[in-house]
Amino acid sequence: MATLLQIHEPGETPQPHESKSELAIGIDLGTTNSVVAVSRDNKPDVLKGDDGTALVPSIVAYAPDGSAIVGVLAKGLLLSRPGAVVSSIKRLMGRGVEDIKSLAGQLPYEIENENTQGMVRLRVQGNSLTPVEISADILKALKERADENLGESVTKAVITVPAYFDDAGRVATKDAARLAGLEVLRLVAEPTAAALAYGLDAGAEGLYAVFDLGGGTFDVSLLRMQKGVFQVLATGGDAALGGDDFDHAVAEYFLGQRTEKLHEKSFSADEAKVALMTARIAKECLTSEESGEWVIEAGGETSRHSLSRDELEQLIGPMVGKAIKICSNVLDDGGVSTDEIKGVVLVGGSTRVPLVRKRVGEFFGREPLADIDPDEVVAIGAALQAEALTQGSDTLLLDVIPLSLGLETMGGLVEKVVHRNTTIPVAKAQEFTTFQDGQTAMSIHVVQGEREMVDQNRSLARFNLTGIPPMTAGAARIRVTFQVDADGLLTVSANEDSTGIESQVEVKPSYGLSDEEMATMLRASMEHAKDDMELRLLTEARVEAERAMNAVEAALKADCSLLDEGERAAIGRQIDVVMAACRGSERDLINAEAENLDTVTRPFAEKRMDKGINDALKGAPVSKLESKAD
Ligand code: ADP
Ligand code: MG
Repeated sequence: MATLLQIHEPGETPQPHESKSELAIGIDLGTTNSVVAVSRDNKPDVLKGDDGTALVPSIVAYAPDGSAIVGVLAKGLLLSRPGAVVSSIKRLMGRGVEDIKSLAGQLPYEIENENTQGMVRLRVQGNSLTPVEISADILKALKERADENLGESVTKAVITVPAYFDDAGRVATKDAARLAGLEVLRLVAEPTAAALAYGLDAGAEGLYAVFDLGGGTFDVSLLRMQKGVFQVLATGGDAALGGDDFDHAVAEYFLGQRTEKLHEKSFSADEAKVALMTARIAKECLTSEESGEWVIEAGGETSRHSLSRDELEQLIGPMVGKAIKICSNVLDDGGVSTDEIKGVVLVGGSTRVPLVRKRVGEFFGREPLADIDPDEVVAIGAALQAEALTQGSDTLLLDVIPLSLGLETMGGLVEKVVHRNTTIPVAKAQEFTTFQDGQTAMSIHVVQGEREMVDQNRSLARFNLTGIPPMTAGAARIRVTFQVDADGLLTVSANEDSTGIESQVEVKPSYGLSDEEMATMLRASMEHAKDDMELRLLTEARVEAERAMNAVEAALKADCSLLDEGERAAIGRQIDVVMAACRGSERDLINAEAENLDTVTRPFAEKRMDKGINDALKGAPVSKLESKAD
């Protein structure tokens, strides 16, 4: 095993560790399986249970009194007492009821608050549970395993999260850890942890790809190692692509053969269940064997099925192709070609499938790294990071934000403040000003997404900056600062320069974006980029015209007497024309008519200026004017 990547802020050296710090663990909290590991003197170990295995199925069974059983024992209850068992809870972390509406009826659990807002609640054996509490039960089991193995109570951990997890998913994971009695030293992106496990610093600077194909999900990430700093440059994936899909393809094939052999028209649910279990065994077997024969026994009928590795590859080929296509998109996204990639890391049980390894190798033009068990590699990286952090190293792991963060401005437009794929931690500020004379408050609306208009993006938070002293429009200087910390959590603050008034929110949505939603939003922003730009220019033209009309109207109110009837009527007519243009959607027309308004009102503006000077002269005592003239 290579040594841990040393990641320091350039120019800073880590502090030597003063006191012997307590141990901290690394946790891979997975959708299908979780793993806990610890590292001492740079030597990581995965912690095994009484049964000698490192993988803890991420499955929890509940008793009516709320007590929980986690792991293999809970998995054993899946078939006999499905109503008491929760699996794949990670898919709901940071999601709200709104987010999972589209999945209604497909989820294997009963959602308690289907018709309300906020965090999802599941009803299991009469208990009402949130995904945070269920994940906390898994984390508690992992902590117990660590306590037993290490002979002390461990309280600190590095926990991994998918690179695409948004603010809500990260907050939910941290909350779950707190409930389990663990202090999170840092949340680390799964691909970054995998790269750390391989000690990719040994290969020095360069680009690396992490290919993670698990049971139900596929993720690919592009990492850059530069000047001792790791960054996730781009990520992609498919939340519904994994080994389970391979199992389904094989099961369908078996069932087709079976109905033909037995002259049946269709198959029962029971037959389908057995076929699926058989398919999974066959698939895993064909990782090391060239061919084999399997038996499906259900409903009193037995059928025999032979399958070769070649045949398996025919069945799963299109799905592997889909994953490779996503890799190609991610490289395009990061503006990188395959020959720039220095290494490819394999993560997840399904990367054991020979066809997957072969196609990954062909696509990237190099043999992928697979020396470390793909099931354990993420937890090992997390453990190495946990050790580095408790030793007082200022190890810095960089990550990117998956979607742009911005603010709503006039006309429902979005001003992006932190762009997508910006590395975190990051702080960015932008200045805004007031739109109306005498405006004393400003409503700050924080949104997430790539589109140009607010209603096409996701609303994250709203707050008000109040107490702005009345000034003319455009005079106030309001600085809005976005701060995203190393764990990916966002704080937005606003302050007005001349008065120093300030207001801030920690953005804590009770639900988040699904990665599918995220992919959809990204795709939409690319497809609509041109339309969005048109719409943006049109909206800007309208806002500009409106500002001009407001100014003219304010002037008319103040200095009406400077104009005669005819002049006033001409200005009024032109305002009507501008208003009509604004109702339409011809940008050039709006701009032209706004300009005409400017032309029509120019004599008026000049008169006002003259009057202003006269007033100033009138207001000043003669003596003062004389003394000034001296
Ligand atoms: P997750 O990331 O979703 O928690 P894992 O990384 O644990 O999932 O991967 C589980 C998947 O790996 C399952 O579909 C399983 O069938 C598959 N798998 C495990 N071992 C093998 C093997 N030897 N050959 C093929 N597939 C395997
Ligand atoms: Mg995994």
